[in-house]
Amino acid sequence: MSKKQSDYIITRNQNSYEVVIGLEVHAQVLSDSKLFSSSPTKFGAEPNTQVSLVDAAFPGMLPVINEFCIKQAVKTGVGLNAKINKRSIFDRKNYFYADLPQGYQISQYKDPIVGEGSVVLDLVAGEKTIGIERLHLEQDAGKSIHDIDPQNTLVDLNRSGVALMEIVSKPDLRSPDEVNAYIKKLRSIMRYLGTCDGNMQEGSLRADVNVSVRKKGEKKFGTRCEIKNVNSIKFMQMAIEYEANRQVDVIEEGGSIDQETRLFDTKKNETRSMRSKEDAHDYRYFPDPDLLPLEISDDFINNIKKSIPELPDEKKKRFIEKFNLSAYEANILISDIETSKYFEEVIKSSDVKLSTNWITGELFALLNDKNLEISKSPISAKNLSKLINLIKDGTISGKIAKSVFEIMATGDKNPIDIVKEKGLKQQSDPKELEKLIDKVINGNPDKVKEYKSGKEKLFGFFVGQAMKASGGKANPQLINDILKNKLK
Ligand code: ADP
Ligand code: MG
Repeated sequence: MSKKQSDYIITRNQNSYEVVIGLEVHAQVLSDSKLFSSSPTKFGAEPNTQVSLVDAAFPGMLPVINEFCIKQAVKTGVGLNAKINKRSIFDRKNYFYADLPQGYQISQYKDPIVGEGSVVLDLVAGEKTIGIERLHLEQDAGKSIHDIDPQNTLVDLNRSGVALMEIVSKPDLRSPDEVNAYIKKLRSIMRYLGTCDGNMQEGSLRADVNVSVRKKGEKKFGTRCEIKNVNSIKFMQMAIEYEANRQVDVIEEGGSIDQETRLFDTKKNETRSMRSKEDAHDYRYFPDPDLLPLEISDDFINNIKKSIPELPDEKKKRFIEKFNLSAYEANILISDIETSKYFEEVIKSSDVKLSTNWITGELFALLNDKNLEISKSPISAKNLSKLINLIKDGTISGKIAKSVFEIMATGDKNPIDIVKEKGLKQQSDPKELEKLIDKVINGNPDKVKEYKSGKEKLFGFFVGQAMKASGGKANPQLINDILKNKLK
């Protein structure tokens, strides 16, 4: 959840129009092998090195369903609070393309494995539930490469046959901000479940974005355009903004929207027509005769349900109730499963409030700065916990802790050792501090006079001088107390 509203807005006639968005998210199933073959699915392998005869569609090859991928889809369905269909059917979706050697994609059409469900978004304005229409399994196609050879298009079939879950939302989204929250929530749920790594740079999560506009208060939806295959949240938001404004302009000029498939040009920041929208009948769907209807038992489903870990919404609730966090803090800490694990590890032996502040403050800033995921954090949860305990028990001040933290960031050193080696232990002996303060007071008789005659602001000056004299190591609370006493 971001606290600030995004910059993406419908600029044209924003008071009289509303944008309506529905997403078809393609999420790559986290699986070592493909949906119907045993080829590996590693990202970044040499082109055409992960291709079996099935994936290359040699004549006579038969698909064999990968049970693990079925489990992953059901698991995701459970995470989306969705109906699991015990009987589903694999269909052939026929179309011709160079990177589709079969001449059809095996997908699910009328009988998907997962039916209706829902996802809850945490928006600035509160919670909003987005309907899920369905989740079906399908094969990915290969990849056409146009920019290596000037004359020819090259084809890499490594992706051919990789299992995808297509998650279709209802047209419930109303702004680029909501789309941002929706994708993040979906990704978070799948990462908790371990069913999709959600890595958008590697294409594990992409979406077709359906956009229409309508006059506010209008009941009927407008005609939608579908923007194909957008692979980052930022591009989705930019594409929606452009497309909504374009549609409003067309309507305001007296025209009407043609239902079509469009492409988002990320360099020009505009959508362009690719083709008029294909209808289902254009694909000549029919059940794949090589695959029997898929039937799963109650036991199969129940075993999966038992294996579901605590999901983001439950975790958020628990964090708020058990640890007394604000909804805002809880959201930050649960959004990513690795962050929540780190947090729970730290608070095993440390103060919750301090831990929350240090993780969402210093640690996030450090990770951001180094562009690192929390799983690669240069400071382990154990060591951060030790640092927090040093602050809590008064061994070091918060200020000193920041410099210890900086040293820790260079190589996960134990903060206890750092404090010892550098002699950073807080000075908490009242006698020592008193000596120090006497020196400050005796050295500044003019300031003392001014203070006593009412210039109370000068108190900060004395604290500063005393802290400085101690090399920043004095216990600030004690300094305050002693000073107050002496200057009375
Ligand atoms: P298709 O395969 O033809 O694209 P799907 O049912 O797979 O059809 O997906 C349709 C998507 O378009 C869904 O996400 C749905 O919410 C969305 N959608 C449907 N009607 C509209 C509309 N008028 N405006 C925006 N999105 C819409
Ligand atoms: Mg579509």
